[in-house]
Amino acid sequence: MNDILRRQALALLKRFYGYTDFYPLQWEVIDCVMSGKDAVVLMPTGGGKSICYQIPALLSDGCAIVVSPLLSLMKDQVDALLANGVPAAAINSTNNDSVNHEILEQVYAGRIKLLYISPERLLSEMQSWASDMKISLIAIDEAHCISQWGHDFRPEYTQLSVLKDRFPSVPVMALTATADRLTRQDISKQLGIPEAQLFIDSFDRPNIELRVAANVSGKQKLSRIIELIDSSKGGCGIIYCLSRKNVETLTSRLTALGYKAASYHAGLPNDERERVQQEFLNDDIQIVCATIAFGMGINKSNVRWVIHNNMPKNMESYYQEIGRAGRDGLPAVALMFYSFGDVQALMSFAHDSGQSAVNIEKLHRIQQYAESTVCRRRILLNYFNERYDRDCGNCDVCAAPPERIDGTIICQMALSAVIRTGEKVGFTMLIDILRGSRKADLVAAGFDKIKTYGVGHDLSFAAWNAYLLQMLQLGIIDVAYEDSNHIHITPYGREVLVGKSPVQLSKFHYENKFNTQAKQLKESTQLSFDDALFALLKETRYALAKAQHIAPYLIFSDKVLQVIASNRPVSRSEFASLYGIGERKTALYWRQFTSVVINYMNSNK
Ligand code: ADP
Ligand code: ZN
Repeated sequence: MNDILRRQALALLKRFYGYTDFYPLQWEVIDCVMSGKDAVVLMPTGGGKSICYQIPALLSDGCAIVVSPLLSLMKDQVDALLANGVPAAAINSTNNDSVNHEILEQVYAGRIKLLYISPERLLSEMQSWASDMKISLIAIDEAHCISQWGHDFRPEYTQLSVLKDRFPSVPVMALTATADRLTRQDISKQLGIPEAQLFIDSFDRPNIELRVAANVSGKQKLSRIIELIDSSKGGCGIIYCLSRKNVETLTSRLTALGYKAASYHAGLPNDERERVQQEFLNDDIQIVCATIAFGMGINKSNVRWVIHNNMPKNMESYYQEIGRAGRDGLPAVALMFYSFGDVQALMSFAHDSGQSAVNIEKLHRIQQYAESTVCRRRILLNYFNERYDRDCGNCDVCAAPPERIDGTIICQMALSAVIRTGEKVGFTMLIDILRGSRKADLVAAGFDKIKTYGVGHDLSFAAWNAYLLQMLQLGIIDVAYEDSNHIHITPYGREVLVGKSPVQLSKFHYENKFNTQAKQLKESTQLSFDDALFALLKETRYALAKAQHIAPYLIFSDKVLQVIASNRPVSRSEFASLYGIGERKTALYWRQFTSVVINYMNSNK
């Protein structure tokens, strides 16, 4: 029996989506709701949650109701379904009443398979729905909005438990990508589906390469950002900043360099934000510099990189924000810059916040992540209580595992300089003293006269920075937040200074790290194709999208274009057989894309 159902499901998957097999857990979830049971589905972003309720909707009579918190998400989903030839619609406040009314008529007539609706609208509207409306299932997307513990709490969500009373025989499926443990526990309780079967996918996003760059100066930061943007060959990305001012500055720097970048933050008018989001979705803007306000409504599958210009305030936000990269499963990069200044700024926010103890603890955890000398993915997944006990091979630590060196003398040089300045200097001044800088304020303070002046000149500024950071982590020095962030020596540090405790440090090596990473990134892209052909296919996609007023990724994801570039289909049937190409898209697009391939091959003979 299940075999038949599975075969039917796979046929629909190929017909409407062009995929040949399910992602992990998708079939299990489908099987569960098709037998009438409720389900709670926890999958990371890009894990394929939509298919979990869309295939059951296609397999069943009647219409599936999908509760979604944001207009932009609904629109995106409906557009994607329509592009694949699945009859879907959204009832919302942007339609006028007669449009909404007509949509309902079509639902009654059995012509719509998926109806998207906001929670408040559903709650007010369902009372008037006649009992002959045939509902196949109710899917509650972004189900973490139900939890007060989470970051996107929506009070309307807490009333959704009435759904089970009103439609007792209709299976309810709740879906979320939130990895937060408290939120997870809340969902089935609050929705009144205690018997729901729980599906938890791994929260690992193996295609996202994790990188952290510590204590990079402002100027270097910009060049590292540009390095990453350029290595993605025109790929889109998001840069998260701590303040609006940072956002504006970065946008204008990048724009001045010729990049298509735009700002997004809460201080901008609504229509401007709307415009930026839309242009980013449409590939008209390559880079969005944003405060955390950006991203919730973003389903864009071809975000190639996410940069944190400053350290985020906790692991939950970090995970959610990097998760916007690489939804199409292709290699993507998450780069976080981490500096002492960030920690200080975040620490003062945390102190002033309502739940300061919790927030400070969370800040410590992300700081540990940023400073880690073990595989970052291990720390990330363990934080979310997922067991992960190997090295991932796709983070900066794995790419260049730390080499241990005897750091006793390095520490002693720094400590002795700290003592001789009367513990009255911060990081930058200390490094300048050690490297023998002639900066005016250094000379004015007489620091060029102390015995340790210049003893560390053979190490770079970046190397000293890295070693001082390690000394801080190891508890050899401390930063006195109450004393202008001056460096103080701990009792352990005094032992090190007098030679009582030897110290091991991880060797600093900036260059190596990046070479290995570049190589790795190449190797992880398995498809082989000409970049020039890929670029032509992208142009075609862009032109088709413009003509239809939809986002390019709704036509084909980057991955599908790569598959086309690699397989070079020249006929309709070859085109139709490829990954990610279903019936409707074959009919609509085979001519355009195959002729691009044919022309390309002719001109490159
Ligand atoms: P989520 O909502 O969990 O973030 P989506 O439903 O948007 O994920 O799916 C992420 C991407 O993976 C989409 O481009 C989707 O079309 C694709 N996808 C989903 N299921 C499959 C599958 N079984 N095979 C191939 N691609 C899939
Ligand atoms: Zn790793």
